[in-house]
This record gives sequence, C-alpha cells and structure tokens, in this order.
Amino acid sequence: MTVSLSASQLTMFQRCAEQWRRRHLEEELLPPSLPVHTGRAVREAVHLALRRRMETGLSMPPEDVVDAAATAYARSLRSGVYMPPEDLPSARAAMTAGRDTVVALTGLFCRELSPKLRPALAGHRVELDLGLALPVAITIDCLTVDGELHHLPTASRRWSTERLHGSAVMVLAREAVRRRERGLCPPGFVDVLVGARTPVLQTLKAPCSPDEIVVLTRKFRLMLAAVQAGIFLPAAPESWNCSPRWCGYFYSCPHVPAFRKRLPAALHGVLAGYGSAFAA
Ligand code: SF4
Repeated sequence: MTVSLSASQLTMFQRCAEQWRRRHLEEELLPPSLPVHTGRAVREAVHLALRRRMETGLSMPPEDVVDAAATAYARSLRSGVYMPPEDLPSARAAMTAGRDTVVALTGLFCRELSPKLRPALAGHRVELDLGLALPVAITIDCLTVDGELHHLPTASRRWSTERLHGSAVMVLAREAVRRRERGLCPPGFVDVLVGARTPVLQTLKAPCSPDEIVVLTRKFRLMLAAVQAGIFLPAAPESWNCSPRWCGYFYSCPHVPAFRKRLPAALHGVLAGYGSAFAA
C-alpha cells in the first residue's frame, strides 16, 4: 500500500486507474522499462554533480559524472527490465544503446547545462502536506542561488507545449519552494535532455498560475475519493498505453478481451536475467 502520492502516480491513475491499483495497491511490481532505467541513471549522476558543486563550489570532472551515470545504469539494470515481447530479440542491443544514451545525455548536461547552474538545492525530496489523507512527494532537481527552479527530465523527443502545461512536477516543486522560502512563485524552467540521434538540450520556461496548486490538489483529492470508493477505471482500449508495449499487466488484465492477448503470457517481457548478465 502506497504511503505517499506523487506526480507520476497521478499521471498513471489518470491514464489507467486499474494499472495504478495493481502497481500501488496490490504491489504487483514489474521491472522498469529501459527509458526509465536511462532516466534514473542520468538523474542520479546529475544530482551527484550538482550536490558536489554545492558542497565544494567546484564542478566535477565531466568524465567522473559520465562514469557515475554509467555505473548507476548498470546497477539499475540488475533489478530487471520490462520489454514488450516484440523487442525481446533485440534486448541486448537495446540495453547497449541505453547505456550510450546515458553517456551522451550526461555529457550534454556537463557541457551545456551544468555551467549555467549555481545550485542551492539539488535532488532534494520533500513531502508536501496538501490537506489530503496522504502526503505528496516531490524531488526538486535544482534550485539555484538566484531562486530559479529547474526540472531536469530526460526524453526521447522534445517536449510539446501541452506536455509542459500539463506537468504536475513543476507545480509541486514550485509549491515546495514557495513554502520553504515563504516567498513568491519562483521562476521555473524545464531543461529536457533529449536523447535524439544528436542529443539536444531543450529549455522551456514553465508557466506559473496562482491557482495551479489548488487545481492540482483537487485532482489528487478526486483520485483518493475514487480509491476509497474502489473505483478503478481501465484505460480506453484504443489508447496508446493499453498495449503490451506500454503496460506490463496487459496479458493478465481482466479488462482486455482474449482476442487482444495474441501472444502467450510466457513471452511477457521481463528480462531480469538479461539485465543482470548485461550489468555484470
Ligand atoms: S492492460 Fe489496459 S486496462 Fe489493463 S491495466 Fe494495462 S492499461 Fe490498464
């Protein structure tokens, strides 16, 4: 049973409440997908580099940051990888490509973003009391000494404006800073490390609205009301996430009719063994 909520849980619940139920209530844990492993590894190394800069005033050598990211990626893979069945034959190549992406994006951070950031907080986890039955957790990637808030996601393509406007992470991070500093709305930026063929940094200024936390809190309240009532709506069958590529519960989901479950459950793409072998 989950002990705190988060922006990613809300996103999952809105896409498919049944998926959230199995993951967070039933605790049927599946290994993360490859993009999650790469994102985690880059973020861990970025937080390390920012903290080191905070503590010493000096930048870590880029090669040390890249090494830290590659080590974090190998360690992360040991928990296994979820892959859609059709990707299983190329799993090993995909994991190698994942490591290349980790190295490229961490190098991009060191070259283009790190020199611009003077961190006052980095990788700082906060649990917000929004007056709900559970706290809402948020990790502040970077708050600079100038009072700028930076969220540092990785992505395989550039963020759209809709994605920026719909991001709950920045709203929660801004609220955490607002409470901590007892101040006004800190300017927020989303610095997307885009793992395209040529990795690019996409910096977007996040919009700020005085009612944003009220709107977001209402969504969390509705989510908890649905949970308490035992209402877990499944995803629309035509939605992109209701497929074996994006949902590890597909083959055992009671909301998916048999004709859609063409591949046997034995081919369920959990690659714990592959992940460990690769990481060794
Ligand atoms: S298969 Fe579809 S309905 Fe079932 S948990 Fe996954 S996304 Fe939700």
